[in-house]
Amino acid sequence: MKLAINGGKTVRKKPFPGYRVIGKEEKKAVCRVIDSGILSRYLGCWHDDFYGGPEVRMLEKEWAEYFGIRHAISVNSCTSGLYCAVGAVGTEPGEEIIVSPYTMSASATAALIYNAIPVFADIEEDYYCLEPESVESKITSRTRGIIIVDIFGQPFNRDKIKAIARKHGLYVIEDAAQAPGAKFANRHAGTLGDIGVFSLNYHKHIHTGEGGIVVTDNDDLAERVRLIRNHAESVVAAKKEKNLVNMLGFNYRMTELEAAVGRCQIRKLRGLLDARLENCCYIEEHLKGIPAITPPAIRKNCVHSFYVHPFKFNSEIAGISRESYINAVKAELPETEFRENHGPLLSCGYVKPLYLQPLYQKQIAFGSKGYPFKAPFYKGKTDYRKGLCPVTERMHYKELFSHEFMLPSMSKSDIDDVISAFYKVWENRHEIKNG
Ligand SMILES: *Cc1c(COP(=O)(O)O)cnc(C)c1O
Repeated sequence: MKLAINGGKTVRKKPFPGYRVIGKEEKKAVCRVIDSGILSRYLGCWHDDFYGGPEVRMLEKEWAEYFGIRHAISVNSCTSGLYCAVGAVGTEPGEEIIVSPYTMSASATAALIYNAIPVFADIEEDYYCLEPESVESKITSRTRGIIIVDIFGQPFNRDKIKAIARKHGLYVIEDAAQAPGAKFANRHAGTLGDIGVFSLNYHKHIHTGEGGIVVTDNDDLAERVRLIRNHAESVVAAKKEKNLVNMLGFNYRMTELEAAVGRCQIRKLRGLLDARLENCCYIEEHLKGIPAITPPAIRKNCVHSFYVHPFKFNSEIAGISRESYINAVKAELPETEFRENHGPLLSCGYVKPLYLQPLYQKQIAFGSKGYPFKAPFYKGKTDYRKGLCPVTERMHYKELFSHEFMLPSMSKSDIDDVISAFYKVWENRHEIKNG
């Protein structure tokens, strides 16, 4: 059978159905807010409305209940939630924050915004989260905390990372953008560290267009996040706040419209996650006949939420490179509705290791003179050279591939087409010249 990359017929042409989670309930909720005429009720001063309007407060209450935590604080993105978290833990300019290089860029820029320096530790070979020994090896007298990511929906190694944090007096900030509904020992991802952050952007399991939620059991951290979210500097005097560290605020407020949508979305999370997990099982079961492909490992005692579904490819067994194989599979498959310009939702690796981005390679963040990396208040030495995190680089450039064909919008027969494409290319791989 001639492969599509060599001019053969593709396995499928009709686009896959898109992941659409917004329905009647959300429409009704948004209309309720529109009818009220109040699309946001915040005031940036010490007043009853400092904490926002009714939808925002209800979303926060319902989110906290669902995730089993004292405080949920809505913000306008996970990015701004991470910024709030780094500010709230009292980060000083010139301190260091240990971060993963294999994540969305904001997990690391959260440190830079407070003039702290991101220090990259390596990831786990099996789970892709920060590797505890590598984290410990990067700790210095300047380390303030660890921003740990539940990458792809895999909860981080809570016990080891928290033991290290306790031993060295560090904060654990958990980026759970990809892990709503994931669990470690029956506790929700996002609630495993001192402070956690979720994303409600359009690509995530549930969304409000844009949005984020910060969660914590710590009353003091929660209040500092609320201040940073809403013009802290104008509020602290009237509120009689004693601790003025990082009380330069922003406007990270979520509107009533998004909050109303978010309240409907939480109710859908469980069902959407179950459908996703079922599709992942089906795909793994049916790809077992391809010896060069290894399905993801799930950490002991954990529920994975599979934001993407990551696999490893063994090019020695295959006799062709990962790129050759994956590009040939992609050529057999269509795009997905609502993501038309993304091509088939299948890719080699995830994101380029962050320290290889120009921001770190050129060490230019604020202004043109290398601030804060080269600022006099930074007494350490940055290290962003290629080869810094060998496991991350090997996964990204050689072994890992990930796909999103497990989205709940995919029927079994849609998935069967994906599986056929993987087998077609596998069985005809002799047709591929190894590039
Ligand atoms: C999506 C994502 C973010 C950023 O979320 P926004 O809500 O778009 O700011 C941060 N970290 C990770 C790991 C993400 O996947």
